[in-house]
Amino acid sequence: MLSDSKKLERMSGARVVPVLVPLPVPGPYSYAVPEGMSVEPGSIVQVPVGPRQVPGLVWDENGHAGAVDPSKLRAITRDFDCPPVDAVMRRFIDWVAAWTLTPPGLVARMVLRVPAAFDPEPWVPALRPVLDVKPERLTPARKRVLELVEDNPGAWTKSGLAHAAGVSNSVIEGLAKAGTFENVMLPPPPVVPEPDTGRRRMELAGDQAAAAATLRDAVAKNGFSATLIDGVTGSGKTEVYFEAVAAALEKKKQALILLPEIALTASFLERFHDRFGARPAEWHSDMAPKMREKVWRQVAEGRVQVVAGARSALFLPFKELGLIVIDEEHDQAYKQDERVFYNARDMAVVRAHLGDLPIVLASATPSIESRVNAASGRYGAVRLASRFGEAALPDLRTVDMRKNPPARGGFLSPVLLKAVGRAIERGEQALLFLNRRGYAPLTLCRVCGHRFQCPNCSAWLVEHRFRAQMQCHHCGHAEPVPEACPHCGTLDHLAACGPGVERLVEEVVHHFPEARTVMLSSDMPGGAKRLRMELDAIAKGEADIVIGTQLVAKGHHFPKMTVVGVVDADIGLTNGDPRAAERTFQLLHQVTGRAGRTGEKSLGLIQTYQPEHPVMAALVSGDREQFYEREIGERQRAGLPPFGRLAAIIISGEDKADAEKHARALRANAPASNEIDVLGPAEAPLALIRGRYRFRLLVHGDRRSDLQSYIREMIAAGPKPRGSLKVQVDIDPQSF
Ligand code: ADP
Ligand code: ZN
Repeated sequence: MLSDSKKLERMSGARVVPVLVPLPVPGPYSYAVPEGMSVEPGSIVQVPVGPRQVPGLVWDENGHAGAVDPSKLRAITRDFDCPPVDAVMRRFIDWVAAWTLTPPGLVARMVLRVPAAFDPEPWVPALRPVLDVKPERLTPARKRVLELVEDNPGAWTKSGLAHAAGVSNSVIEGLAKAGTFENVMLPPPPVVPEPDTGRRRMELAGDQAAAAATLRDAVAKNGFSATLIDGVTGSGKTEVYFEAVAAALEKKKQALILLPEIALTASFLERFHDRFGARPAEWHSDMAPKMREKVWRQVAEGRVQVVAGARSALFLPFKELGLIVIDEEHDQAYKQDERVFYNARDMAVVRAHLGDLPIVLASATPSIESRVNAASGRYGAVRLASRFGEAALPDLRTVDMRKNPPARGGFLSPVLLKAVGRAIERGEQALLFLNRRGYAPLTLCRVCGHRFQCPNCSAWLVEHRFRAQMQCHHCGHAEPVPEACPHCGTLDHLAACGPGVERLVEEVVHHFPEARTVMLSSDMPGGAKRLRMELDAIAKGEADIVIGTQLVAKGHHFPKMTVVGVVDADIGLTNGDPRAAERTFQLLHQVTGRAGRTGEKSLGLIQTYQPEHPVMAALVSGDREQFYEREIGERQRAGLPPFGRLAAIIISGEDKADAEKHARALRANAPASNEIDVLGPAEAPLALIRGRYRFRLLVHGDRRSDLQSYIREMIAAGPKPRGSLKVQVDIDPQSF
């Protein structure tokens, strides 16, 4: 059978190709290729869609281009001078689209996010010395320049040369006028220098060396392999996977390192620099647009060897990818919960599979999924059982809050306050961790009981005292903190209920007025840059007490930190989510792991009302194996991932009754199946966000069930969503 494009070609006489456009349409459209233009699958082009011009990807001929009346067939308007997106990436786009039930164009849009990079980078004007031409007048400044270029006779940019010689631009311009330089053009410089794999290498310790050898073998072998590095915080996982990166670079391949919070990982970049003598290229949402363009382009051209990036880096069009590393593979930040709902960890494994290349997953607290894959032999596994060198894991203890109540109006138990006091007396640091931004999670009126709720969401407004605002953490709604209750009008009778980090600052300053106290929270003014500076300062010992939300939990190396207090360890356990135990275990292990990174003895105190809870017990005993076994057993019994499959279908709309009706209609159209059940509809955990009411269907199947086909069928059979109604599918939702 002829593909649609071939049929169109016959009828129209022009060459016709399918082009995937970055829009929510079911598949590629057909376009004519103008005479003289040469494109192939993967070529990046520009095409008209309605009145607009959009970028597109010339797609493979698999017969799914929509039929078009040949007389209406439109032509490609431009082909870019850009390396084509390779076949692996094209299959990856299709795969992600099919897995997440997203139109492929929306997945392609994640690849085509940087249109300015489709044109080649401009060459840079430069000056080349003409050594036999000497200027008549020789000032000391001119002399310096001439001496410099005599030793380095290649071409220089004007400002580069002025800087190196320590003269002003006008000195260089004068010399150029005198004929001592000629104008030339240089290719655009690389965003980062090439990493040097042969540079200083720390002597890897016993089990580190063995682990590194396993990874190097995997990289050398060519072909897909997945390996889990399971090692406690500070055991040297990073040093070990650097060896895998080195092995890939030695093969002239590119490497991608995914990190959960790239904007905060200055110390990671530094360590990479220590090992390789150059930084990796960064990729995350906080980059300047110009830099983003350069990195995208140079990755595509194979001029950038290593990218360290957030989840979206998985959609960079690498020329010659040879390794993927996922650090902190358990981290929830890898899950994107908007537009395309995907888990970058899982999709990275797919990407490695399609590209026939090795992938390394590293964590101190691996996800249950990865542990199960390692246990079954699907993944290779390497273990690093102890911290490197003198460093020992902190001594972890629970503080039973029923027996150690804080002073009235406070949240810190006497035991914890004492430990903090001792740490700062010794000139060490203490960290107080509370995973709650703002001053208080709930504000109410003492007179009428009025609670401050977001007008758009089913959520309380959180008081942020430093900004003097009440904020919604879901939609961004903010209003000034009122003096009077908006309900009963009583003045000055508002009560803050429960602690947020800002409130802890008050308590800490009250107890330790002399100490240097720093608060870190993702919403503080100054953004990522300020945060990096603060983290740096803490690492240098310029703070005594650090109070922070979960962004202090991850990866930072604070040599003087010897006491970590978890203020409310129970927060995450009470939300009814089946992953709550795993999450809490991971988070608390990470946070307490900030202590004792050097030789000092260190202490982790976990304030809880349920010290007997298995998560607390596992943390205190240090018996992670017991925790994993128990948790895996429970998942297995309940048929929860990875022993069963789950998907959420979220039906939302501005009208509550409409949304619910639509959810019920979808449910009514669920096909009969022996392996798959549909639960609900029920109100989604956040039943109202940004003025949209949300209902949820949960689709639960056994391990081998084809949830995607089932859901596709169900949605196709149901009514079309009209008006403000929207149906979104979340395969393997992170909370359910
Ligand atoms: P992880 O990634 O498992 O938390 P890291 O790789 O960050 O562990 O190592 C913890 C600390 O120990 C780092 O400061 C690192 O530089 C140091 N370290 C680890 N292995 C070695 C080694 N073999 N020689 C010297 N220092 C090491
Ligand atoms: Zn809101």
